[in-house]
Amino acid sequence: MIEIDQLHKKFGDTEVLKGISLTIAPGEVVSILGASGSGKSTLMRCMNGLAGLNGGSLLIDGLDVSKPRELREIRKRCATVFQHFNLYPHLSVLENITLAPIDVLGRKKAEVEAEAFALLKQVGLADRADAYPGQLSGGQKQRIGICRALAMQPRYLLLDEVTSALDPEMTGEVLDVLAALARSGTTMIFVTHEIAFAREISSRIVFLDDGVVRADMPTDRFFAEDGGYGDERIARFLAKMR
Ligand code: ADP
Ligand code: MG
Repeated sequence: MIEIDQLHKKFGDTEVLKGISLTIAPGEVVSILGASGSGKSTLMRCMNGLAGLNGGSLLIDGLDVSKPRELREIRKRCATVFQHFNLYPHLSVLENITLAPIDVLGRKKAEVEAEAFALLKQVGLADRADAYPGQLSGGQKQRIGICRALAMQPRYLLLDEVTSALDPEMTGEVLDVLAALARSGTTMIFVTHEIAFAREISSRIVFLDDGVVRADMPTDRFFAEDGGYGDERIARFLAKMR
């Protein structure tokens, strides 16, 4: 369970998150929508301890992100996939995927490699285990980024605009992988501009507006009444994204 209560986050004098309260249960697929600058990435960074809090609390399965000694365990449970892949260029695909499970989780190499091959197969890249990131397309890199996150067997998968740097065709390949994951019961917190896709895969939508939660409701309800269920600001946002 992810439990966020009255979370505040500032950069200098600017308050970016202004009292966010949010609970996400295991198995949920939640899409976080909102205009650029509304605080989506900051919220994700707070969830895996990459950004400290200035107020309120954020617990992951009861572990407190503001306690440094709980961060290690939190990062095992929450794996993040970023917009810009962040693969290690000097490591092969297989090494990129197996590095953290071996080094951080202390697991056996042979076992982790077998799992990595299974993940690669799942995303349609079984034949690229020995390739280097520089030899892959953007869509392939991002599918490897997802494998790398999943290799940690996280309880929560955080995805921050993972298709924003991709052209439409590559976006499609990555979204196919994510749709399969969503169906498999993986808990996903999905920041995206792909509104139609968010609507298709998530059970719930959280809409951030200037650092506050403006809507948090089941997907069907969010998109009712031609979008924004009557909330003018949200309706305007959705119209612009179409
Ligand atoms: P989103 O992901 O919704 O586009 P962000 O969380 O990236 O929004 O940013 C929210 C606000 O916080 C923006 O105004 C942004 O400029 C600011 N911000 C984000 N990260 C930093 C930082 N490291 N230092 C200063 N300001 C930041
Ligand atoms: Mg962002």
